[in-house]
Amino acid sequence: MSQNAFITEETIEGADDGPLADATVAVKDNISTEGIRTTCGSAMLESYVPPYDATVVERLKDAGATIVGKANMDEFGMGGTTETSAYGAVKNPVDEGHVPGGSSGGSAAAVAAGDADLALGSDTGGSVRNPAAFCGVVGIKPTYGLVSRYGLVAYANSLEQIGPIGTSVEETAALLDVISGPDPKDSTTRFDLDEDGEDAAHPAADSNYAGAADGDVDGMTIGVITDLLEGADDRVVEVFEASLEDLRAQGAETVEVSLDSLEHAVQAYYVIAMSEASSNLARFDGVRYGQSGGYEGNWNDAFARAREEGFGEEVKRRILLGTYALSAGYHDKYYKKAQDARAWVKRDFDDALDQADVLATPTMPVLPPELGESLDDPLQLYLMDANTVPVNLANLPAISVPAGEADGLPVGLQLIGPKFGEESIVRAASAVED
Ligand code: GLN
Repeated sequence: MSQNAFITEETIEGADDGPLADATVAVKDNISTEGIRTTCGSAMLESYVPPYDATVVERLKDAGATIVGKANMDEFGMGGTTETSAYGAVKNPVDEGHVPGGSSGGSAAAVAAGDADLALGSDTGGSVRNPAAFCGVVGIKPTYGLVSRYGLVAYANSLEQIGPIGTSVEETAALLDVISGPDPKDSTTRFDLDEDGEDAAHPAADSNYAGAADGDVDGMTIGVITDLLEGADDRVVEVFEASLEDLRAQGAETVEVSLDSLEHAVQAYYVIAMSEASSNLARFDGVRYGQSGGYEGNWNDAFARAREEGFGEEVKRRILLGTYALSAGYHDKYYKKAQDARAWVKRDFDDALDQADVLATPTMPVLPPELGESLDDPLQLYLMDANTVPVNLANLPAISVPAGEADGLPVGLQLIGPKFGEESIVRAASAVED
């Protein structure tokens, strides 16, 4: 376990039997585990021990899984390399001079190194797919509302979902089968009434994600998002094109699609994510949550000290920018515009998914950076998310599957499906890995 993939190594035994009875699972450290500290990669929560389990952790235990530890991550999920963790960077097991991606870098590295069979991450703007791509494993970002967020420490709650990571599409999908489903504790998972006011089942009720990994893409239409190829590294595009060729050889048809709104997706994502973060992280003041700033006669000073000491640089930057974007006089200029762009991205995806069953892009436009290479330039880091954040803005499902290597480093292919179309993306991805 030399990659620093875990913040806390501790075993939690699950039920004696169940679909995951033989599996070990790493759990990202922003997912609450009863009695085991949950730091979110932050010094602020260094000694925080949740009094309850996240719903996904309960489901892992019920399925018989053995949890082997809490995985390292970018602080509060803010980053794409796991270098903003207060517990040190994680090395990419494929090539230790490189980052594993992020923010769920510990989760993906643990699976890639064989320290866990499976892992859970969270994906606000790519944090499951990005490290899956960089570490050469599979990661799924479910449709918003498929998986309970109860017990996930919120970064940007309108964007994020907990998602599974594994070495094969089928195993990763099987973990999705275990964690998905309605949860009375998370109203965004409830589908009590359909449009006609009738009782409606949750989309996970009659689905079988693992069963969809049958590799049968004959007759499937795959839309290639041309806008996201333009800025990508040539070596990545080459591997991507070879994968598409392979899918065509298996009977899939590829068509080109273009989404004009994607030009604005990264800007819209960061305004929305930072705005939500500024609100969600207000609770870390040393009184309600977090290390105390020490009361010396003035509570504002005590809160300020707690936040000054407890948060890292990237988290502070985002709280400041998010607070600014939401402040009186600027709200319409930034936050409202970003919401308009979000609606546009959604419409564009709906149109594109009318022309194709699933959409394809490289998961990441670049190869995994070297450790330390990308930290000083936050803007560069934000641009790395160009292919993943549009999916979160549109609340759609997507999977990253290993497509090959360039210069000895893994390249991931991203497949995006319609709302609750997890079975389609699993099916297409299983053909890629064949
Ligand atoms: N890199 C993106 C960000 O920093 C995505 C992070 C995530 O999905 N948690 O916001």
